[in-house]
Amino acid sequence: MIPYGRQDISEDDCSAVLEILKSDWLTQGPVGPIFEDAIASYVNAQYVVSVSSATAALHITYLALGLRKDQYVWTSPNTFVATANAALYCGASVDFIDIDEKTYCISVDALEEKLKSHSSKNLPLPAIVTMVHFAGQSCDMKRVFDLSQTYGFKIVEDASHAIGADADGGKIGQCRYSDACIFSFHPVKIVTTGEGGAITTNDFSLARRLTELRSHGVTRDPQRMMKVSEGPWYYEQIDLGFNYRLTDLQSALGLSQLKRIDKFITQRRFLAQRYDQCLASLPVVLPEQHPDGHSSFHLYPIKVDHTLSGLDRGSVFKSMREAGIGVNVHYIPVYRQPYYKQFNYNAHDFPVMENYYENAMTLPLYAQLKFEDQDSVIQSLKNIL
Ligand SMILES: *Cc1c(COP(=O)(O)O)cnc(C)c1O
Repeated sequence: MIPYGRQDISEDDCSAVLEILKSDWLTQGPVGPIFEDAIASYVNAQYVVSVSSATAALHITYLALGLRKDQYVWTSPNTFVATANAALYCGASVDFIDIDEKTYCISVDALEEKLKSHSSKNLPLPAIVTMVHFAGQSCDMKRVFDLSQTYGFKIVEDASHAIGADADGGKIGQCRYSDACIFSFHPVKIVTTGEGGAITTNDFSLARRLTELRSHGVTRDPQRMMKVSEGPWYYEQIDLGFNYRLTDLQSALGLSQLKRIDKFITQRRFLAQRYDQCLASLPVVLPEQHPDGHSSFHLYPIKVDHTLSGLDRGSVFKSMREAGIGVNVHYIPVYRQPYYKQFNYNAHDFPVMENYYENAMTLPLYAQLKFEDQDSVIQSLKNIL
C-alpha cells in the first residue's frame, strides 16, 4: 500500500537522537531551547514554545489567551478534531464557519457574515477565531486581522499542515496577523519529532505564560513569584499547568529534520505540480492555489464529483484502496462527529463543507514519494475513471 503520508528519517536524524540517548539529559536539557531557536529563526517569530503535540499547543494557547467557560472559539469544520477539542478542554464552546469553495480553508466572507449577524442579533461573538491553513495553504489572514479589530477577537493559526509555507511576505508562523501560530510534528506532517508541536508568537507575556503552562504552572523566575524566595531550591506553582514538554530526544530529531525542511517542501511542491499536470485531463477537481501564497503541500486533496465522472467518491475510494493506493479523506466535518451531536450543529449551515466532504479524496503525497509510486497512483486513478 502506498500511504497518503509518511516520515523521512535519515542516518543523521538517527545519530542525533542516539547522541542524546548517551548524554546527561533525556529531557529539559540543552537541545530543547536550540530547537525552539531554530524554529524561531526559520519562520521569523520572536518566541517559540515547543510542546508534546499540536493538541497540547492548542490547549495551552487557548488557556494563555484567557479563554473562559462562557466563551466561544470559532473555527473551520474542515480540520482534525483537536482544533475544536482543545476549546472544549477549557470548558468553552465551539462554533464553525463554512469553508471556501477553492481553498477549503475557512471562507472569510462567511466569517464576516456570521460576525455581522451575531453582532446585530446580540448572539455570542468569538473570543478566539482559529484559522486552519488547510493542506498547507494560507488563509486570508490580513482580512481576518481587520475583522478582529472590529469585533475584538484573538486569532490563532492552526498551521499543523503549514510549516514551510509562504504567505504575507514571509513564512507562516511569523504571526504578522495573529496572536499565536501552532505547528504539529506528527510523522505524517512536514517535519516530525515522533509526537510534538510548537507555538510561535511575538508576544513576550504570552510566551512566558505558555512556558509556565507547559510545565505544571511552575516558575523559577523571582519576578513572577508571589512570595520571597526561601532558598536556592525554591520554585513556585503560580498556575494550574500540565506536563506538555517535548523531550530532548524529540527536539534533537526535530532539529535534525529542520535542516532538510526546504528540501522536503521543494519536493512536495514538485510532486504536487506533477499531479496537477498528469491529472489535468481527468474528470476531477484539483486543489486550487491562491496566487499570493505558496503552499507547503501537506496534502493533495482532489474532489471526485459524480456530475463530472459519473462515479461517486465512495466507489472511487474503494477501487483505489483495492489497487493498493492509500487514499484518505481530510476531513470528516467536526460537527458530524457523534461526540459533537450534543451541541446541535446543523449541517445545512455548511453547504460548501458538506459538498466538499461528499467528494473529497486525498492522494498520497510526501517528500519521499517515488515517481514510479506517484505514477501508479495516477495510472490507477485513470483506470478507475
Ligand atoms: C495533526 C493535526 C492536529 C493535531 O496534531 P498533533 O500533533 O497530533 O496533536 C491539529 N490540527 C490539525 C489541522 C492537524 O492536522
